[in-house]
Amino acid sequence: MRLFLLLISSIILFTTGPLPAQKAGRGCGTIPEFNDWLVYFQQNPAAFPRSPKTLYVPLAVHIVGTDEGKGFIPDHEVLDAFCTLNQDYEAANIRFFLSGPFRHIRNSQYFEHDYGKGIEMMQAYNLPNAVNCYIVGDAAGNCGYAFYTLGVVLDKSCMEETSHTWAHEIGHFLSLPHTFHGWESFSHDFSQPAPTAVNGRPAELADGSNCLVAGDGFCDTPADYLNYRWACQGNGMSAQVQKDPHGRAFRSDGSLLMSYAMDECANRFSERQIDALRANLEGPRAGLLPEQPPLPPMGNAPAAPLSPEQDQLITNVSSLALSWLPVPNAEGYIVQLNLLSTLGEEIPFTMYHSTEPAIEIDGLLSERSWRWRVRPYNRFDGCASFSEAFSFSTGNFISNTKEQASLGEFRLHPNPLPAGAPVKVEFELPYAFNLQLTIYTSTGQPVRHQPLDARYGHNEASVPTTGLPAGLYWLGIEHTGGRKFQKIIVQ
Ligand SMILES: [Zn+2]
Repeated sequence: MRLFLLLISSIILFTTGPLPAQKAGRGCGTIPEFNDWLVYFQQNPAAFPRSPKTLYVPLAVHIVGTDEGKGFIPDHEVLDAFCTLNQDYEAANIRFFLSGPFRHIRNSQYFEHDYGKGIEMMQAYNLPNAVNCYIVGDAAGNCGYAFYTLGVVLDKSCMEETSHTWAHEIGHFLSLPHTFHGWESFSHDFSQPAPTAVNGRPAELADGSNCLVAGDGFCDTPADYLNYRWACQGNGMSAQVQKDPHGRAFRSDGSLLMSYAMDECANRFSERQIDALRANLEGPRAGLLPEQPPLPPMGNAPAAPLSPEQDQLITNVSSLALSWLPVPNAEGYIVQLNLLSTLGEEIPFTMYHSTEPAIEIDGLLSERSWRWRVRPYNRFDGCASFSEAFSFSTGNFISNTKEQASLGEFRLHPNPLPAGAPVKVEFELPYAFNLQLTIYTSTGQPVRHQPLDARYGHNEASVPTTGLPAGLYWLGIEHTGGRKFQKIIVQ
């Protein structure tokens, strides 16, 4: 370990000067070291025949936030990125799976850290028998970095569904260098021919003739010197023309995940890179691979609600069970619940997590409309999308919250009412609702009744009073959770 730390400190020195350029370009901070095992692999291809089997690789995902518990990347965003990661490794027949639940770490020093703290974090929290992946607020100024012996660290802002940072950093963890290996942090005018060696590594020639000992050492990844994040052209190649030491011009291949091409360009590993990834897993990393493959894939039936029913009115409760049909082989569900405020502004989703196809929600506000949706996942599969949104309403139950948006006063007219004329009822509602309009005698006997599908906003209805003798009555607007009354006089 002491040797390793020594190595790290020399590496940090190495990166101190030129790093700001990478920082601005949101690059990768992996130390550009050539892996000894990879040298042996590249020089002895016959010793590493590719096996046909799917390799299942466990990931331990650590989600880092501040001391106060803020800044955690939301779980569903990790699932999106996890889905993309598996797509990026599909051609390699490598399948990552979650070795356990996401682990949340509250530590501001690790949330935004330099390399020293990052190493300390990994040493403190790494789990055995898994690729340890940390998602933080600032990965030492990079989109990500990897240490071959420790794991990978990712900046949460580089974890979008379209981002390939995770695939790239795990590529490093499994021995792959950048396609532009040697050029990291090297300053060069690309209109000029490259020097024969850069940072002690021969510059790869445009014709590939020195490919085994230059650049990344892979002969099916062409020469590439571009050490900054670059956008590819329509044909997937760099706009920047480079010149090899012999003055031969070439462009970089943006499809390679181990290049610095932008996320929209990069989508593959070369065949020899795939050989190396797999040989690394089956060789020095064989301890990671489980004895037997985990679960079969998850069913793709969408989660369907069991309770409450669509648009159901929930009354007299301040807690509610949401349940849905279990999705075959799902091991967990992310549930989002959203209050549609009366002002038309959407309140952001509140997130819940469940291993069962049900959750209990407390503290519901009365007289509101709610939306919820469910996303299943299992340790293999983060690719399921959220279900469509389901909705329910809460009635006018007695709530201990102050947030009683109630049915406002309603208006009756004419009042007094000429005998036999219908009474008109007007009121405003903060949500769509099923109501009952009922006329009671002064002693409480219902004498007229009319249901009403009331809508959001202004409502008008009329209730017939034909045949009612003159006198005092009550008109009630009622729903299962509450009611309001007003006097009406029939003349
Ligand atoms: Zn990298």
